[in-house]
Amino acid sequence: MNNFQYYNPVRIVFGDNQIKQLSDLVPTDARVLITYGGGSAQRTGTLDEVKDALSANGNRDVFEFGGIEANPEFTTLLKAADMVNENNIDFLLAVGGGSVIDGSKFIALVSSLTEEDGTVSREQAWDALTSGCKKIDSAITLGTVLTIPATGSEMNSGGVINYSERQAKLPFGSALTYPKFSILDPTKTLTLPERQVMNGVADAFVHVMEQYLTYPVNAKVQDSFAESLLKILIEEGAAVKANPDNLETRKNLMWTATMALNGLIGTGVPQDWTTHMIGHELTSLHAIDHARTLTIVLPSVMRELKDSKKDKLLQYARNVWNISDNGQDDDAIIETAIAYTENFFRELGLPVSLEDVDLDRSAIEPIVKQLEAHKMVKLGEHGNNDLDVSRRILERAISSNA
Ligand code: NAP
Ligand code: FE
Repeated sequence: MNNFQYYNPVRIVFGDNQIKQLSDLVPTDARVLITYGGGSAQRTGTLDEVKDALSANGNRDVFEFGGIEANPEFTTLLKAADMVNENNIDFLLAVGGGSVIDGSKFIALVSSLTEEDGTVSREQAWDALTSGCKKIDSAITLGTVLTIPATGSEMNSGGVINYSERQAKLPFGSALTYPKFSILDPTKTLTLPERQVMNGVADAFVHVMEQYLTYPVNAKVQDSFAESLLKILIEEGAAVKANPDNLETRKNLMWTATMALNGLIGTGVPQDWTTHMIGHELTSLHAIDHARTLTIVLPSVMRELKDSKKDKLLQYARNVWNISDNGQDDDAIIETAIAYTENFFRELGLPVSLEDVDLDRSAIEPIVKQLEAHKMVKLGEHGNNDLDVSRRILERAISSNA
């Protein structure tokens, strides 16, 4: 196992009917900006529940900013950051999924980057994003009410921001943007459309895979936690499809997705975020849901990199899919595990090739160009997935092998 430091300061408040805890979690004299998405928080009543909890005690001034898009848009977030400054907001409360939470983290960071007239500087915010927001040294405090299990953003310090005008979807991270708390009420996930539920299962699955599928470093805690999370997602993914109203399944999915990307299984092990980085380009060029880009790319990453990932692929085959050797050679075992993975995605209604989302070979070069423009040229656990490797991964993804 490699050396590591592990720090995660996020208070998780888990369970049904827990939104009322906001009355204790948010300072009673705070000037709060509630941020939310395209309308689900209003339609489902969650927004009203949040406002009721905030007015239950204390003397908070509460403002609202709605309309944060799925794949949160840079320009929208800058408007929210201006609102933060105009109203002296000192607490951001994100109500929604990864898009609202990531977007709110970005608002928390860039609201200090102002021009002389007090508005947030678009150029400074763009510069900050392109360098991962590493140099910003203050942020507005943030809390979250999670409404979709998927990204883990509720318990980590990262985010991904889309800037359509520049065809860029870029990650950032700062120790300043760990949420102070996150409320995880599984009953809130019952209103999700099936497509979003399945997206969430797949995103969490790929998060685990990208912290697991590298090379062994004898990290027994991380490996067996990762394998457990994968098995739960396989089991509960099928269960939620068959029986979407089962609250026990929803509870397990919600906590699994959080655990998949809260840093725990990624400590002290190599990581490979190739699938996510190629996936971000697919979203920014073709507006494909985040998780769907991942289920298209991951099987081809596994096939293209099967030599350097061989030991972990065999471990994955045996421990996650219970594939026994039965006299097969290693290649056959690995191919079976990849085919099972594709089949799992398919059964959730997710695409596993470019063809499945009506793209063909002509989509590849523009994606490779974008990877180059965004300096995604040394991906993978060894830093040697260059543009040629990414191109080969995409070529494998044109149509499914299985
Ligand atoms: P999302 O984009 O936040 O939400 C997806 C859709 O679900 C939206 O249309 C939203 O509608 C709807 N929705 C959310 N909760 C709902 C509910 N309870 N009932 C009905 N509809 C609901 O989904 P996400 O998968 O959580 O986030 C994806 C984003 O996170 C991507 O930009 C991705 O790149 C990023 N991401 C971040 C991390 C990280 O670590 N920070 C990791 C992976 C991915 P409304 O807009 O109307 O609310
Ligand atoms: Fe993701």
